[in-house]
Amino acid sequence: MSDVVLETRGLARSFTQGETVIHVLRGVDLTVAAGEIVALLGPSGSGKSTLLQAVGLLEGGFEGSIRIAGTEAARLDAAGRTGVRRDQLGFVYQFHHLLPDFNAMENVVLPQMIHGAGRAAAEERATALLSALKVGHRLTHRPAQLSGGEQQRVAVARALANRPALVLADEPTGNLDETTADVVLAEFLRLVREEGSAAVVATHNERLASRMDRVVRLHEGQLQ
Ligand code: ADP
Ligand code: MG
Repeated sequence: MSDVVLETRGLARSFTQGETVIHVLRGVDLTVAAGEIVALLGPSGSGKSTLLQAVGLLEGGFEGSIRIAGTEAARLDAAGRTGVRRDQLGFVYQFHHLLPDFNAMENVVLPQMIHGAGRAAAEERATALLSALKVGHRLTHRPAQLSGGEQQRVAVARALANRPALVLADEPTGNLDETTADVVLAEFLRLVREEGSAAVVATHNERLASRMDRVVRLHEGQLQ
């Protein structure tokens, strides 16, 4: 196995609105090594989310190649894409998207059990991840009973629960105040490094981007 977890070649995506075609991605070539944390920097509207959605195999409609952990994922059918997402990828969004009726622990346990883990092992790992993210004292709180920073920490724990090769994070601290964003991002980066996952983290914040291993910039649909 190569130590490349992500390789996109010629990734292109356009949207048609009425008579107008917007070319959002115009041939993105991005290579991410195992364990590498890459900041995807670009102003609002530059196509960061579009790129992460394509790499996350959440949407079709793009051209080009996406290899994830050695598998050409762009041409897989729906079941194949679901398998790659489940086995290789973790997601963190700007808004936490936790299950509202389940507590913090359950939100981190459920994806592991869906992935085949037994309850005891899943609970042990959830507790360890949530404790490492300093929300070990909030295990039985539901999302609505958590602060924004705590919600995002639980979302980070959930994304890492199944030991993904690659974490895709779309402005993971974008909803938080500056001080909380700094702390949560630091915890996120530390845990991703400890776990040995790679990550692509979209942000429009240069200061946050500078804490990652490498910065790539989206400009006019290409990386520079
Ligand atoms: P970013 O995440 O960097 O803010 P996005 O990827 O969300 O940028 O959007 C890039 C561009 O693509 C924007 O101009 C946006 O309006 C357009 N776009 C994104 N999704 C769609 C869609 N489903 N239909 C039409 N246009 C879209
Ligand atoms: Mg976006």
